[in-house]
Amino acid sequence: MAFLRQFKGGAVQRSPVAQQSQSPVQRKPQKYQAAALSLRDMALVKSKLHQQQALKVSTEGAHPLIVEFYRKFHKELEARGFSFYAHCFVRDAATQRAIYRRGNSKAPPGSSPHNYGLAVDIVHSLYHWELDDDPQMAERKWRLIGVIGKEVARKANIPIEWGGDWSFWDPAHWQLKDWRKIRDGEKVFNANAYSRPLAAKLRAHKQSRTPL
Ligand SMILES: [Zn+2]
Repeated sequence: MAFLRQFKGGAVQRSPVAQQSQSPVQRKPQKYQAAALSLRDMALVKSKLHQQQALKVSTEGAHPLIVEFYRKFHKELEARGFSFYAHCFVRDAATQRAIYRRGNSKAPPGSSPHNYGLAVDIVHSLYHWELDDDPQMAERKWRLIGVIGKEVARKANIPIEWGGDWSFWDPAHWQLKDWRKIRDGEKVFNANAYSRPLAAKLRAHKQSRTPL
């Protein structure tokens, strides 16, 4: 398939629009190739460990669009042989306080989108947050995961922000854009823009404010 795509790309004159519709990974394959090869482990994706990790997380209280984003993202990563899973969607006040005190989060209780089910942390099955011993390769691997996630979000029409784009680097973290507006009950999404089952979930979802 890759060969066919390349062949077609060479033979057919492509418009700038067609160029843009390619994912960043397709556009810069060399840049990510080593990271992709090193991350790829189909046996791990199919392993019991990974399957169980994928089931363990609770989505209770999480916003339907962050769950949908994760579902699609996880599928895309699995297809590429990248074994990642959702570590956490919703975080209660006590947990938020504990990680804030440890310095693992910049957000005191009540000021993290996790406290309202509007974010997800996605980590590797074996290496979790530390994707490589070499910091440069670790960053490159996270960047690869980042471009894939953003591409998934774009295609699914889900406005997402990635913690890998921040100065307080948190590449495992993904959150719905405008999460404060969503928390405050403002209508941010048009349910009609999504599939019928997802639209029904969006209409039924009541943003639950965690008592903090
Ligand atoms: Zn997070």
